[in-house]
Order: sequence, then C-alpha cells, then structure tokens
Amino acid sequence: MENQPLSSFIKSMPKVELHVHLKGATRPETILALAKKNNVELPAKNLAEMAKWFEFKDFNNFIDIYSLNAACFAEPQDVEFAAREFLTEQARQNIVYTEVTYTINQRKMPFKPQLEALNRAKAWAEETYGISMNYVIDIPRNFENMNPSAFSTLFATHAVQGMGQGVVALGLAGKETKHSVSDFSDGFDIAKEAGLAIIPHAGEAAGPQSMLDAIEYCNPPRIGHGVRCVEDKNLMALLKERQIHLEISPTSNICLGIFDSMANHSFAEISAAGIPFSINSDDPPYFNTTLTDELIIVAERLGWSAEDVQAHMIKTAEATLLPEEQKAALINKIQS
Ligand SMILES: [Zn+2]
Repeated sequence: MENQPLSSFIKSMPKVELHVHLKGATRPETILALAKKNNVELPAKNLAEMAKWFEFKDFNNFIDIYSLNAACFAEPQDVEFAAREFLTEQARQNIVYTEVTYTINQRKMPFKPQLEALNRAKAWAEETYGISMNYVIDIPRNFENMNPSAFSTLFATHAVQGMGQGVVALGLAGKETKHSVSDFSDGFDIAKEAGLAIIPHAGEAAGPQSMLDAIEYCNPPRIGHGVRCVEDKNLMALLKERQIHLEISPTSNICLGIFDSMANHSFAEISAAGIPFSINSDDPPYFNTTLTDELIIVAERLGWSAEDVQAHMIKTAEATLLPEEQKAALINKIQS
C-alpha cells in the first residue's frame, strides 16, 4: 500500500459509490443517439454543441438540461443500454458496488419494464465484471404544474413495488428551491409504512432549513449533498449526534456554483466535525469528472494516506443499504 502514489492506489482500489444518477451518468454520445432514435428535439446536435450546452448557468438551468436528456429514453432497451454503459464505466474504475439513483420515465413507459431492464443490466454486470448495483428511485420535483402529493404518491408506490427487486430507497431530487421537502410528505409516508429508506437531496441549492425539513419528514439514513449544513452549527451537531451520512459530490457543487472554489468547499469542515460522509460523482459527464477523480481531489486536500482512503471507503460501504451479510462481504472486498 505504501509504495505507490496515492492517485494510483485510489484508481485501483475497490470502491463504492452512493450518489450517482443513471441518467446523469449517460454519455453525451448516447444521449445524442437516443434523441435521434426516439425523435426528441435537443438544442445540441453534436458533441461540441453538447459540451457548450453543458455550461450551466445555475442549478435550475442544470435541472432543465438533465430533464430534457432524461426524456430521450423511450423504451426499456434504452434503459438497459444506458445501464450497461454505466456499469462498464463503474467496472473500469473498480467501483464494485453502486446505489444508483434512477428517475422513472413515467410518461413513456410503465415502471415494471424499466426495473426489469435495469435488472438485466445488473445481472450482466455481476456475471461479466463481478460488480453490482441497487436503486434509489427519486421523486423529481421539477415538473411544471405538478401536484406534489399525487406525484410523490405515484413515485413512492413504484419504489415500494420494487423492494426486493433492487430498490433500496426512495429519493427526492430536482429543484430544491421550487418545492420544499414537506410538500412530498404523502409519498414519504408510503415509503415509511413499507419500511423503505428515504434519501432526499437537501442542503445543496437550498440552505440548512431544507436539511432540517429532510430530517423531520424523511428520517433519512443519508442526505444527498447536505454541504450547506456548515451554515448552521446546531444542524451540524444534530448530524453528528444522529450520525446522518452526507453524500458529497465536490466538483458538482463547484460546477453548479454552490461554492466558488474547491478551497472554499465545506467538506474539510464536515470531516473535522465528525459528520459521516462519502465522496461521489453525482452526474459525471456533465461535470467532466469521475468518482476516482473526486476521491483524489478530497484525499489530497485532506492529506489522507492510502490507509485513510481505505478506512473512508469502508465507512462508505457501512453506509450502504445492503443487508448485513452482503455489507460484510463488500467490506471484505475493500480490505482485500
Ligand atoms: Zn444528485
């Protein structure tokens, strides 16, 4: 472990990722191909235009682009193709287990064939690469004129239907400033009733109150981002006391203007405060990053050794929603 540079160690070590969106991880080439196949009009016609289109103005602009890209998926085979590509990239980085966020395409396909398509890709990756994934089904809060109660009920019902078939949590993503966490409480009640964990995005585009709401309404084992907790010392104490895990994606936060530079990012303060956290890539091609790159950035800034990175990865594995036996096997894999 000691004789190789830290970046090589991070590249080759077995890794776990807890916060990455399948549709946000789809390569621009694939988005273009799906748009063409399914007759979806995009403002970008080639890779150069896609790169330009990905220069986000702000968080809400990013969500609009993400939503249009997600709309390029029209058939279960599109989902399976993108999932296979995603898992090939995870395998390339030696990411042995992922809890990937999947946004259901509720206009063009029923949920069941989408979940079956994901599970075909998962079985293929287990066989081909020896890696696996499970799903966080998110409630997207960015549709115009939606009724949050009806919307959250629909997505939560689907998520509960997928329990035992790979769905391990209900998520909440999209425009934090447009709808508060509490608007979706009907959906959360369905998940709670079924014993399904809830992992909302909060404390990213919106401040500490969004995280306090998330804790109140979702009782979350983890929060997506949560990086703005540093604006409220009482909230930080609460996160530490309850050991609520934050899924941090540093480059995403810089690209979307949550922090103006890596030096001013809150992960060092969160780490020093004893709040559990993991490092993640969120939507890697959008932010031109990978999980490996994110880990290298954080490890260098926090002065971690290879042993520290490995200890961090074991804590990340402990924060998965896997059954205890599978969790122990995953930790073994990281230690080997
Ligand atoms: Zn996210």
